[in-house]
Amino acid sequence: MPSSDRAVIHVIGSGLAGLAAAVRLSDAGRTVVVHEAALQAGGRCRTYHDEATGLLIDNGTHILLSGNRAALDFAETIGSRDGLYRPDKAEFPFVDLESGERWAVSLNDSRFPRWLFDKTRRVPQTSLVDYLPLARLALASGDRPIGDVVDCSGPLYRRFLEPLMLAALNTAPQEGSSKLAAALIRETIALGGAYCRPLLARDGIGKVFVDPAIDYLRGRGVAINFGDELTALVRAGARIAALKLSGGEVALGAADAVILAVPAHAAARLVPGLRAPTEFRGILNVHFAVAARDALPPMLGVLNGVSEWIFAHPERVSVTISNADRYFDTPRAELAGTLWREVSQIAGLPDAMPRWQVVRERRATFAATPAQNRLRPPSQTAFENLLLAGDWTATGLPATLEGAVRSGFRAAELITQAMRPAA
Ligand SMILES: Cc1cc2nc3c(=O)[nH]c(=O)nc-3n(C[C@H](O)[C@H](O)[C@H](O)COP(=O)(O)OP(=O)(O)OC[C@H]3O[C@@H](n4cnc5c(N)ncnc54)[C@H](O)[C@@H]3O)c2cc1C
Repeated sequence: MPSSDRAVIHVIGSGLAGLAAAVRLSDAGRTVVVHEAALQAGGRCRTYHDEATGLLIDNGTHILLSGNRAALDFAETIGSRDGLYRPDKAEFPFVDLESGERWAVSLNDSRFPRWLFDKTRRVPQTSLVDYLPLARLALASGDRPIGDVVDCSGPLYRRFLEPLMLAALNTAPQEGSSKLAAALIRETIALGGAYCRPLLARDGIGKVFVDPAIDYLRGRGVAINFGDELTALVRAGARIAALKLSGGEVALGAADAVILAVPAHAAARLVPGLRAPTEFRGILNVHFAVAARDALPPMLGVLNGVSEWIFAHPERVSVTISNADRYFDTPRAELAGTLWREVSQIAGLPDAMPRWQVVRERRATFAATPAQNRLRPPSQTAFENLLLAGDWTATGLPATLEGAVRSGFRAAELITQAMRPAA
């Protein structure tokens, strides 16, 4: 990538991948311009005021784990790390709606898994040997459906592995990629509880990763152009020569470069011949305007219900369903009613449903199957001054905030390396 210190780097898209790339580049002293099609930043990770509930809500509750080092490094850089709760242990409480049984899986912090030797900390009805498949999954070679590597039945699977993998992959675990599951396990559970404390945003995920990033970039003179959609990349041989944007056409200088940090389906339209994931899965969130911190833990896994995870925020309760396409045609009020019945039963709250909102994200993530995982491209493209970023690129992780941030950092690093004067 021919480049120089005076080059302008155009970042297309202000989701977490684009923001992370822009922050890294501006820290390296580069001139950066961000072009965002929407009128606000954040992409699939947004916090906004919702009329129906009268509250600030997230498009979906976003959870990080303490092993998500790139995302936490990004938050540290933009000064928003304190916007995430710091739980003092790695604990995952569950409830079974059918039996009423409650339990918590509680990992010890150190690498040696003492929790597996303590039946009060591991999954009820499991013994130590039941956990061997976790190691088999973490060490599995190649990429196969998880269902081909471990037995998708039994208490450990039903009560721990399935809810965790479904949330992390946003794909039915049986068909999910063993390679992506292995990467997750190796970066979190295998390293001990210190790496898998669940981190939730105190006042909304956008207040941690989006607003502070925009302030940080503006403070460093980075131009952020909203409502500025990239409609075409103008090619000249092996280079991108100009950008057609809704704000007008921008000619690129010999050393200028582009980081395309848009979702997979948008990138596939803009870059002819690009290999990219083609299948996506939805996520559904229902928010209820009720304060229930006394009645619910911050995060609760639900078995044998329609709800999968319940999150108790200070002013609202949010319910998440992953791989949720099967519910997208269900009337909104019916869904809200079903989920409220479950929440009120679990938390002992009144039957009367509080104000609510349903948020459906149809293409929340790519389908994390082995076949789709193989379609993920690297950062570099056939064009010498065009790089890709986004949770759908070959990050080695499922579509997550961590993957998005890593992809942005990687694209920025490739540009700064190319710009470094030869030794
Ligand atoms: C409901 C939901 C729940 C989630 N939960 C979690 C979770 O708990 N934990 C977790 O780690 N991850 C979670 N994720 C995934 C996480 O949100 C994504 O991985 C991450 O936000 C993707 O960031 P990105 O920058 O790659 O893409 P995006 O956020 O999609 O950003 C792309 C940006 O490009 C812009 N754009 C598109 N086309 C153009 C164009 N032509 N010109 C200019 N701009 C353009 C878009 O407007 C957008 O702002 C969740 C996602 C959803 C939807």
